[in-house]
Amino acid sequence: MKDRNFLDTVMEFEQQLESMQQQFSALKQFVAHMMEEHQTLQTENLHLRTRLEELLANEATAIKRVEELKKEPVDIGEGYDNLARLYNEGFHVCHVHFGSSRKGEDCLFCLSFLNKQNG
Ligand SMILES: [Zn+2]
Repeated sequence: MKDRNFLDTVMEFEQQLESMQQQFSALKQFVAHMMEEHQTLQTENLHLRTRLEELLANEATAIKRVEELKKEPVDIGEGYDNLARLYNEGFHVCHVHFGSSRKGEDCLFCLSFLNKQNG
């Protein structure tokens, strides 16, 4: 009877060990998943930072360009050339978005404004 109890205890202990092993395995998977997610977020964060720096640099360039244009003497022909150049460099010259990046897209406001200035 005593041996029987001892064997039960050993088997129970074995079951506990198996259960702990399963829990540990699940925990390991969870940690691996978290590390993967952490890596993804870090990479995404880096991309966003780079993009933000690009945008800030673009904005600084645009502001500098606008300041330069403001200082240049106003001559209708030259003024038009400067605005056309600014537009071609990728910035808005329309009053709606003046000085901001066109993000590579044409702007109808800018184009109609440039047409008016030219005509
Ligand atoms: Zn525009």
